[in-house]
Amino acid sequence: MTSKLTTTNHSRDIAGLKYVYPVISRRSGGLSIGINFNTNNACNWRCIYCQVPNLTVGVAPPMDFELLERELRFFLDYVLNGSFYHDFQVDKINRVIKDIAISGNGEPTSLKGFDRAVSLIGDIATELGVFPVSRFVLITNGSLVHRAEVQRGLKKLNEYGGEVWFKFDSATEEGRQLINHAGQSCQLSLQNLMLSAELCHTKLQTCVVDYDSGGLPLSERVALLNMLKKINKSVRLKEVLLYTLARPSFQPESVKLEKLSAEILNEFADQIRQLGFTVSVSN
Ligand code: SF4
Repeated sequence: MTSKLTTTNHSRDIAGLKYVYPVISRRSGGLSIGINFNTNNACNWRCIYCQVPNLTVGVAPPMDFELLERELRFFLDYVLNGSFYHDFQVDKINRVIKDIAISGNGEPTSLKGFDRAVSLIGDIATELGVFPVSRFVLITNGSLVHRAEVQRGLKKLNEYGGEVWFKFDSATEEGRQLINHAGQSCQLSLQNLMLSAELCHTKLQTCVVDYDSGGLPLSERVALLNMLKKINKSVRLKEVLLYTLARPSFQPESVKLEKLSAEILNEFADQIRQLGFTVSVSN
């Protein structure tokens, strides 16, 4: 018996594979095929809204490239030519591969051989006709973009017409410490963001939450708008994905977190639009 895949069922092991998992995504509006490099639930950040169970500090474990290839070929064939949609009772409206997303239980660019993994996924999806119709997305906190291997991976991603969703939740040191436990300054993160945008189409993904009933503090709002004003002048970076908590966090701060209201999100989105950005809001 298989489960029904819905926008709230995000179990990474629903298909019984190690690296590949299906998600019906609210943000993309169809089937998103996720690739999880961080099978050890390790990340170099600890965001207080993180939904990774048993999150630990660390990097992705060594990749079994042969297994990744076997799983991806098997799964794409199952979706394209097999009974996947029927088996998982996917609603007709969602029966389309919107994207293949490198997005896992931790920071994917920490994988040794990150560039090789990007090429492998890109080559298989191109060979099977999934790219360039569907998008190739990397969801990252962007903290390792200064590394040569990551930059090679982003160049590859660009060759497949891919895009980077670069996490940028706060433009204050206090906010980054509170929300992301980032350990990387705002300035360095901004430099990585610029680098990413030079190498590949890049969108900012900004998660805003209500922490301890504080709403969206004015200082955070102003700092982020000022940062966006700066990058608006210098980088090809015109899109922001603004979202709030969709599911409960697995972090100890969970009890202090609430999603922000649609009203606040939309108001903030409008302020960002006034700077010339395209903003998608997900709440
Ligand atoms: S960067 Fe992503 S995986 Fe890492 S702690 Fe934050 S939300 Fe979790």
